Parts: sequence; structure tokens; C-alpha cells
Amino acid sequence: MHMPNATSPDVMDRLVSLSKRRGFIFQSSEIYGGTGSVWDYGPLGVELKRNLKDRWWQAMVRARSDIEGIDAAILMNPKVWEASGHVSGFVDPLVDCRNCKKRFRADDPRIKGEPGTPDAQCPACGMKGTLSAPRQFNLMFKTFMGPVEDTASVIYLRPETAQGIYVNFVNVQQATRQKVPFGIAQIGKAFRNEITPGNFIFRTREFEQMEMQFFVEPGTDMTWFEYWKDQRMRWHHELGLDPARLRFHEHTKEELAHYARGAFDIQFDFGGTLGFQEVEGVHHRGDFDLTRHAEYSGKKLEYFDQPNNRRYVPNVIETSVGADRAMLAVLVNGYREETVEGESEGRTVLALHPALAPIKAGIFPLVKKDGMPEMAERIAQDLRPRFPVFYDESGAIGRRYRRQDEVGTPFCITVDGQSVSDGTVTVRERDTLRQERVGADALRAVLETRLSV
Ligand code: ATP
Repeated sequence: MHMPNATSPDVMDRLVSLSKRRGFIFQSSEIYGGTGSVWDYGPLGVELKRNLKDRWWQAMVRARSDIEGIDAAILMNPKVWEASGHVSGFVDPLVDCRNCKKRFRADDPRIKGEPGTPDAQCPACGMKGTLSAPRQFNLMFKTFMGPVEDTASVIYLRPETAQGIYVNFVNVQQATRQKVPFGIAQIGKAFRNEITPGNFIFRTREFEQMEMQFFVEPGTDMTWFEYWKDQRMRWHHELGLDPARLRFHEHTKEELAHYARGAFDIQFDFGGTLGFQEVEGVHHRGDFDLTRHAEYSGKKLEYFDQPNNRRYVPNVIETSVGADRAMLAVLVNGYREETVEGESEGRTVLALHPALAPIKAGIFPLVKKDGMPEMAERIAQDLRPRFPVFYDESGAIGRRYRRQDEVGTPFCITVDGQSVSDGTVTVRERDTLRQERVGADALRAVLETRLSV
């Protein structure tokens, strides 16, 4: 019954159009022609993304005694980015075409010949000899702080949230009196002036990261590295992502940052032209970050191990996942088009984990009379304070079901003629299409159990 469309190249196009039509994701500043690779989340998208972030926060911060949350500012002292290596190292080599003014990464496979030489050919306009030699281009967004726009006032939009954690390592440790091993986590915006953004929300210039740095005693680091690889893969499974579409990719020597002791990406198979791509990085960063910040700030960033009367710089195991990219994985994973037995019209379904679904239940009176709308409205009012529900009385019941299926609503509740006389309603499950009658009084408890809210 299911059409095997999950890996077909047009799933992304269909998701873009569904997202706009139903209010998940809009192009930023669309009425002005948009902004390059920046997206706005609409009413349903903001709920889905928030649910995703809440699940991460719950698993990584609230459900654990050994991880603390913070929310550091986007703007940081520019020295941070010198210490982190981003000012000198966060660069891509670029070439410009003098003729058509387009810009490419120097390693763009479409470029024929050596950029900067007469026989190099521009992949956009086709002219020969117009491509510049590669120049280093920093991916950080630069702006100015204060009233004077000069080099002394340059400030960056953070390209990752992790540095806000490193610079607060001592603050958090002292305030909470956590003992190593412990972690610090945060969710926040990051900005990168990506050269080749695209694929919807896969690679954007403004995005959100969910990052956690776990500080451990040197010598215990590899055990913790394995622990976090396992935990983080498990989290993706528990989001409902198909395990067959998830895998680890170990960084090769060439891919590995010079300071990193080991790095694994958790990749998801996005299908189409993207295939397997990173959604999360689990990285062993050694003591690089704390050592560098200590060096650049002149402050000690160490841990004092009281029982053993010993000071040391902890090693860091980092887990870093993009909220937007994880959301795209969830959408791609859940999207399907299928035929329904006995119905001429097929349906589009977003098979989202109930905890992620933006709307938990659709509530419908079968027809707009005989007390059905009143009863359905009462049910909606009763449920709404607990979780988002959607009341809908317009159009044929089949169409109302389909409208909820395509936004991932796990349950639809219908009030029919029998409901008014015996107080029962039907509960229809999105995935199985099974319907059962439940007493309206018990509805709240039944849904809460099934939704685990
Ligand atoms: P890539 O090699 O794809 O540019 P990266 O290795 O630089 O990514 P990290 O710095 O490890 O990525 O970032 C951690 C996570 O942040 C990524 O796994 C991804 O989920 C997310 N992320 C990074 N860059 C972007 C972006 N431009 N748009 C959306 N999400 C991003």
C-alpha cells in the first residue's frame, strides 16, 4: 500500500510545497523575493521544532543530574574567535568570475581547469579565463558593535554555540559545584555565511544548534566518547527515525580537525541527491578549547579534583546537532504518499512521532447539526489546555482527516449522531486508520497515555 517514495528525488520539493501550504516553513522575507537560504518557521513548524528541542533538552539536561543548561549570548568578545581558531581557520577557498560575478568554491567539481589560469572555465557563464585565483573567505558574519564602524569595533555572529559553553566552564562549575565528569548544554542560534547553502533547511545561513560539551578526566575520555556515541544514536532512534537510515561516519585523518582525537558523524539518509549526510557530530576535542581560552584570556580554566588534590584541564566530548537539520530528517523520514483501500483519493501522511506532532488531535463534528458541533467544541476546549488540538467542521469528513494526516496529527476524534446520545466518540489513528469508540469522559486520559504527555 505504501508507495516507496521516501528516497525519490522529489520528496524535498514536495516537502517544500507542503511546508509552505500548511504553515511549517516559509522563505524568509518572501514578499521581497526571499533571503538566500534563510527560512521562517510558521505556526506548525514552530511547534514541531519546539517539540524537537524540548525532547533534546529533556534528555540532555532535565533528566540528568550531570548536565547543566545555559543560554549564552550570540555576540561574544571577538578574542573568543581568535582563541577558537575561527578567525584564521574557518575559511573556504573561493573563486570569482569577473564576467558574470558569480562565486564558487574552489573545489567546485563543475570548474574545468585551474582557477586563475586562462583555460579555467566558469561553470555559470561558460567564459574562459575569467575565474580568479582562489581567495580565502571567512564563513563568519561580521558586524560592528557601538557607534563607530572601524576595525576596533568588529564583532561576529557566533558560527557555533559551543564557545559560549567553554568560556563559562568555570562559572558553571563553581555555581553548581558539579564534579567532573559533567556536561554543559545549550540550544541557540548560529550563523554561517555558507557558500553553497541549499537543500531547503539542510544548510542555511542562520540555524539553531543543540550542543553539549561533556568535561571528563583525561584517561577516561575514550570510555565517555563511546558512551556519548551510543546515547546520541539512541536519541535519533527514539525520535522515530528509521534505524536503517542512520549510520556512523568516522572522520578520516584528512577530515579530522588538527586538535581532535576522534570524530564520528551521525548520518541520516535524506534520499534523493543528498543521500547520507551528517545530522550530528560526536567529537572528542581533547583539551584544545579550554587550553586555548586559558592562553588567550590569561585565566586558569582548570578543574580542581579535591579528593586527589590535583588540578587538570578536562578533556571534552562534544555532541552537536542542528535543530533544523534534525527537523528535516524527521520530515523526510515521515513523509509518504499512499493509496487508501476503498477510496479513490490517496493520502499524504507525515508519520511523525506523537511527541513531535504540532497538533495532537483533530476534533470534528460529523455534521454541523443535531448538537454535534457543540459537543465537539466542548471536547476541544477540555483538551486544549493540555495539548494543541484543532477543531474543524468544514468540508467532508474524509477531507478533514486528510488535512490532519498531512500535518502529522496522530489522532482524529469525531463526534457523530451516536455521540450525542451515548457520550462516546470515535478515535481514529493516523498510521493504522483504525477507529475505536471511546467514552468522551475518558478521552483526555486515553490520549494522554497514547501521546505520553
Ligand atoms: P558541514 O561539514 O555540513 O558544513 P560541519 O561539520 O561544519 O557541517 P558542525 O560544525 O559539526 O558542522 O555543526 C554541527 C551540526 O550543526 C551539524 O551536524 C548540523 O546538524 C548543524 N549545522 C552546521 N551547519 C549548518 C548549516 N549551515 N545549516 C543547518 N545546520 C547546520
